[in-house]
Amino acid sequence: MTPGRAPGDEAWKAQPFALGIPSMTTKKADVKPMMKIFICPNCGRLTAVSRKKEVNCFKCGGSPMERAKLTFEAYTEMDDRQRKDYSDSWLYIRASGKRKRHDTF
Ligand SMILES: [Zn+2]
Repeated sequence: MTPGRAPGDEAWKAQPFALGIPSMTTKKADVKPMMKIFICPNCGRLTAVSRKKEVNCFKCGGSPMERAKLTFEAYTEMDDRQRKDYSDSWLYIRASGKRKRHDTF
């Protein structure tokens, strides 16, 4: 067994700044708007909003919508059919989970 240096040792020492400087460059990438997905417990309509805490479903005449555990990225990649499937199963799970407050979504 030879107690040699790790292959990356030299390269690591050549970049002393890598240790101390906080990653200020990543800050700008984080300021994208935080979109949240809300779902209407009445009709299953999905909508994406930013900044708002309370959302009302205009389709149901102002029913308060609930936050869906779905990322905006996932939402944008879904087509209408998949969104329908999602809201269908969301409503189903919500209805069946009402007794034992268990949220799987
Ligand atoms: Zn609705």
